[in-house]
Amino acid sequence: MSAPQQNATAQNWFTEQHARSGSSFGLRIKERLHAEQTPYQSIEIYDTTDWGKLMVIDGCTMVSTRDNFLYHEMMSHPVLFTHARAKRVVIIGGGDCGTLREVLRHEEVEHAVQVEIDERVTRLAEQYFPELCESNADPRAELLFIDGIKYMAEQEPESIDVVIVDSTDPVGPAEGLFNADFYASCHRALRPSGILVQQSESPLVHLDLIKSMRTAMRVADFQAVKTLLFPQPLYPTGWWSCTMARKGADLSGFRERGAATKQFATRYYNVDMHKAALALPEFMREAFGE
Ligand code: SAM
Repeated sequence: MSAPQQNATAQNWFTEQHARSGSSFGLRIKERLHAEQTPYQSIEIYDTTDWGKLMVIDGCTMVSTRDNFLYHEMMSHPVLFTHARAKRVVIIGGGDCGTLREVLRHEEVEHAVQVEIDERVTRLAEQYFPELCESNADPRAELLFIDGIKYMAEQEPESIDVVIVDSTDPVGPAEGLFNADFYASCHRALRPSGILVQQSESPLVHLDLIKSMRTAMRVADFQAVKTLLFPQPLYPTGWWSCTMARKGADLSGFRERGAATKQFATRYYNVDMHKAALALPEFMREAFGE
């Protein structure tokens, strides 16, 4: 996910070298299936020996067939089981459509719009990750290909229940998704008790970013902020997070009974994993002053 120093495909391995953490993660590949430069970013698709297909954006691993369920489930189910009844959901980014698919598993959702800046990400996902796109034709789904920053600034006040920011790192087109101005647009557009959740990178490497996101969310007048932790082998350090912010209400508890009796299958998410994701290690408690 974070800007790699370089990446290599030597000896049939795709390796993302992560300069900031002095680490790398590699997948053995069979072949590169596609490569293109869009107006926004470079996109590559690989076929791997053990992880299915792999999407890489600007040299950073984004999605693999094998492990994307961890990320997509944790970006959608905790927030939707925290909200009492989310009818209108906006996903910013998320062009591979995996988050959209998970959101639409919730019957209470009446409308979910995915606002992805780069249409090519979705078109390639349809071709190489069709299972992630299987809900795109759901009548409740809407796919827009525009800048999510502009989209949120233009929404009617108090018209949205949940905003999910499933973006790339805070560089390039995603840079403006990590500041108080963007969070203020989200706060304005959310209904009372509405919730924003955003992927917030690795606690081991990006703790300063997580802290600055949490501060900016509070500056934007969100009442409660919580960071959730989960594994994601494909991204630097393999340990990832998302941060939730709620307007006009706290973030204590979630609809445990709803989660325990959910009418759809998950591979990672359940009540215990939800609770576990909310537990913070000592260094994070200290960093957040909790
Ligand atoms: N789930 C994977 C992850 O977190 O790495 C993939 C996320 S998805 C591919 C990230 C998407 O955010 C990219 O497709 C990128 O085009 C999109 N994106 C970045 N900045 C954006 C913006 N300002 N508005 C809308 N989409 C944006």
